[in-house]
Amino acid sequence: MSESLQNFVDLWHVSMFYGSLVALLAAIIVLVIYYAQYLGLKNLKEKYDFASLNEIKKHRTMHILLAIALGMYLNTLRPDLLEKGFVLFFIRLSVTIVAATIYGYVASLVMKFYYPTKLAKKLNRLRYTPRIHEASGNKMKLLSEEEEDAYLDEGQQAEEDAFAVDYDVWIDAESGDTKVEKYMGYLTALECDRCGFYTLKVEKEEIEKVATEFEEGELVTHYKCSYCNRIKRQSKVIGKKGGSSGAKTETPEFVEQIATTSSVTHIHVEVHGSNGEVLNYEFQTTHQAETFFREFDFSKVDHSR
Ligand SMILES: [Zn+2]
Repeated sequence: MSESLQNFVDLWHVSMFYGSLVALLAAIIVLVIYYAQYLGLKNLKEKYDFASLNEIKKHRTMHILLAIALGMYLNTLRPDLLEKGFVLFFIRLSVTIVAATIYGYVASLVMKFYYPTKLAKKLNRLRYTPRIHEASGNKMKLLSEEEEDAYLDEGQQAEEDAFAVDYDVWIDAESGDTKVEKYMGYLTALECDRCGFYTLKVEKEEIEKVATEFEEGELVTHYKCSYCNRIKRQSKVIGKKGGSSGAKTETPEFVEQIATTSSVTHIHVEVHGSNGEVLNYEFQTTHQAETFFREFDFSKVDHSR
């Protein structure tokens, strides 16, 4: 081997070795930061939201970094072979690229199909572990869907009726204090009834029939499984619009305007009442916001919360 070629090979080995160390370290840091943030959250609901948004993303990043570390490390092996000819340099390079790609591919399959099931179990544990009443230290009780309505205001009930949103109401039996937690269907993976993985998620929601004062409406929720591609439709009856008392809110024009803008990703609405009350609502689609305000009746919302 000529001297310049030898220099290049030496430099290559050194940079691949340190490169693999850096990638490995970065992979560890990503994971350590994730778990430090997760463990730093005190509240189970906060942990739930944080894990459902970040856990898979962070693990995926970690695996990409590990694939890079592996590929680079393999490029430092058997330097003695190169003395037999530079062609072996390219053979080794190709083999390591293939190895790193296979690792990345297998890891991405695991993160896409197996990991969501594991995560769903963890999230269920976070969601259904009895909450502790702050003042008394008592374990609180989770109310059933039927029982909880009495503790949800009109706006929250409308949301539960019209979207893939779930409210959990925890009650302290002694004091009657309640704690309300909101879970978004778009974030919650369900068990697929065909493949059994927890990879079934809400894809979109559509109002098939708008509820009027005289007739019930119909909401169709579309689910899709990212593993077996099962598509599921579930329809839900939307209750008739409340009695004629109290002025109904018209769909605000601004909602109709943004509903035509496809680049909107998130909508946060603050509703201010004449007595200084402020209500906050979050929507993922303009369609949700639009439907919500069609159902929304400010006079029936419990402002005392
Ligand atoms: Zn499936």
